[in-house]
This record gives sequence, structure tokens and C-alpha cells, in this order.
Amino acid sequence: MKALVKAHAERGLWLQDVPEPEVGINDVLIKVRKTGICGTDLHIYKWDAWAQKTIPVPMVVGHEFVGEVVSVGANVSDFHPGEIVSAEGHVVCGRCRNCLAGRRHLCKDTVGIGVNRTGAFAEYISVPMTNVWHHREGVDEEVASIFDPFGNAVHTALAFECLGEDVLITGAGPIGIMAIPVVKHAGARHVVITDVNEYRLDLARQMGATLAVNVQTQNLADVQKQLGMKEGFDVGLEMSGNASAFHSMIDNMCHGGKIAMLGIPSGPMAIDWNKVIFNMLTLKGIYGREMYETWYQMSVMLECGLNLKPVITHRFHYTDFEQGFAAMESGHCGKVVLDWTT
Ligand code: NAD
Ligand code: ZN
Repeated sequence: MKALVKAHAERGLWLQDVPEPEVGINDVLIKVRKTGICGTDLHIYKWDAWAQKTIPVPMVVGHEFVGEVVSVGANVSDFHPGEIVSAEGHVVCGRCRNCLAGRRHLCKDTVGIGVNRTGAFAEYISVPMTNVWHHREGVDEEVASIFDPFGNAVHTALAFECLGEDVLITGAGPIGIMAIPVVKHAGARHVVITDVNEYRLDLARQMGATLAVNVQTQNLADVQKQLGMKEGFDVGLEMSGNASAFHSMIDNMCHGGKIAMLGIPSGPMAIDWNKVIFNMLTLKGIYGREMYETWYQMSVMLECGLNLKPVITHRFHYTDFEQGFAAMESGHCGKVVLDWTT
């Protein structure tokens, strides 16, 4: 089968013929239909320091996908050929304290599809049945292909109560943008999102942000005045991984404000703890998605009409993957989806 392989320890990915994956007794074999390119895939493509110390070579990469069940292992009775499914990208151990307690997103031994084990940028992928998510009939397959990052957005956005609250999102990457309709669905009042990239700020406006702010030309104190806010944002969603974005968030929270942190800083990030202490802020780290409460929430919000379509800005055939990665690298994109159906 064809697959995008990190075949050499250098910049790039290589379209190669590789053996079809093996299907164990607890596994589901899926014919991949569409895949999303994640920022993680771009790190792997660029072969930065993180990728060099994390990614085994050679390996099929990719973890955001939708596909059709082709066959199942002997122990699998819940999935059937023809069903449209995605998969949770974190394979958990099932044996640690958190796994045993049903808190699988807190597993201490998480293995990442397309990061630590064979990925989804391929014609077929085999995953454990405990990782398969069955989509409802009629799901938009492009949207289904980005459930993994949508799940990051939902997990973060719903970490704290949003009803009636003013929400600040730092970072209008695909995940920050997807968080906008989620917090609005959850009842937020003002939803302000920041970035330095005008293309993405425009997308954020299309997705319903109250204000999409370029922090190079406008500061958040002025934004608060413009919106008639007096005491700061109630909920912060840090989705940039950028230190100055995080600091401006800390400076613009109300007393007792709550911050969910998804963005991954490139290294240690300093913070003025006095502001956290005296303003009694709550900080919560977010990793991945809750298994499977987040997946349930995603499905239900889409069923209720939440529209993610505008966030998908680029579509390519998988053989044109280089163009997809170029779009990702330019930053002039929302989600980039590759088609594997033909
Ligand atoms: P992205 O890199 O596409 O988006 C980040 C955005 O932040 C970019 O648009 C960038 O222009 C913007 N930005 C840069 N400087 C800024 C500043 N000073 N103020 C405001 N915005 C600024 O990433 P994404 O795919 O949308 O993911 C969001 C973040 O979440 C990334 O840091 C990513 O690594 C991280 N992530 C974490 C998890 C997890 O499980 N914790 C999972 C996926 C992604
Ligand atoms: Zn575990």
C-alpha cells in the first residue's frame, strides 16, 4: 500500500510502498479516506529538535483521519465492515492507576499514533478496537477527519464553565479557531481571540469571534474597554504556546479567572506567580481528549448544527502532500485535508 513515510532522518516525507498493517485479534483494519495534517506532522516534516528525539525512522506518520472499517480481529464484535470511523490518537496502557479508574486520558504510558507507532497517512491503518470512534451516519467526512484536533479544542474549551462568561483565546491556529463555536455553543458572552496572523484572524471572524485581535496593533486592555468589560476575562484558553500571549492572558484575567493551557511552549516558560496567587487564578494543563466524553461531546455538538467547515481551507490528493505541507508552513491556512479515496 502507499504511505507517507518518515524514511530518512532529515527534512521531508516520502511517498512509499509499504506492507499493509497486521491486524491483531483486538484490532480494527480501516481503509483511510481522508486525513488532516497536524502541527505535529509539520514538526516531523521539518525534522526539528523535538522530532529528532521523538520519531523512530522509518515510520508511517499521521494521526488525524477518517476511514471505513474493512475487517476486524477475532475478539472484535462492536465494529463491522463498511462503518465510517476515526480513531483516538492516544493508545493507552489499560493497566496504570488512571486507566484502571476509567481516566484513560491521564494514562502514564500513552503511545501516539503516527508519533510512536505506525500512523494514518496510508491507505490502511490497524488500531486497537478500544481506540475506534464510530461516526453517526451522514457525518461530513472532512469534518470527521479532524476529530482529533477538534477534540483538543473541545477538551480545552469545556475544561471550565463558559455560560455567560467572557472568554479569551490566545492563538488563532486551527485549534483556537475551532474553540470559538464550542464556547459559544456552551453559552459564552464575549469570545475574544488573538493572533499575529491576519489570515487566521479573518477565519476566526468567520467562525463567530466577538473580536479577533492582532496583538501587534492592539492590546487586550483596550479590547476590554471596547467591549465594556471592567474586571477581565473569566476563562482563558491558551492555544498558541507563545510566552507573550500567555503573559498577556495572565494580565487580562479577572480575579478568580480560570485558564486551560493547550499550547505547547518550545521550552521552559517563565511566569509571574504573584499574579496567579494574588488574583487567585486557576491553571489547568490539557493533553489530548477525554476518552470518550470529549468524542461524545464533539459528535453531539455537530449534530446540533455546530459548523466546523470554514476551518478547512485546503484540500489536496495525498500524492500532492508537498503542497499541503507548504500551506501548513506558510501559516496561510486553517486545516489542510488530504484525500485518500482515489
Ligand atoms: P498553530 O501553531 O497552528 O497555532 C498557534 C497560533 O498561535 C498561530 O496561528 C500563531 O500565529 C499564534 N501566535 C503566535 N504568537 C502569538 C501571540 N503572541 N499571540 C497570539 N497568538 C500567537 O497550532 P494549532 O494546531 O492550532 O495548535 C495550538 C497549540 O496547541 C500549539 O501550540 C500546539 O502545539 C498545541 N497542541 C497541544 C495539544 C495537547 O494535547 N496539549 C494537542 C495539539 C496541539
Ligand atoms: Zn494507562
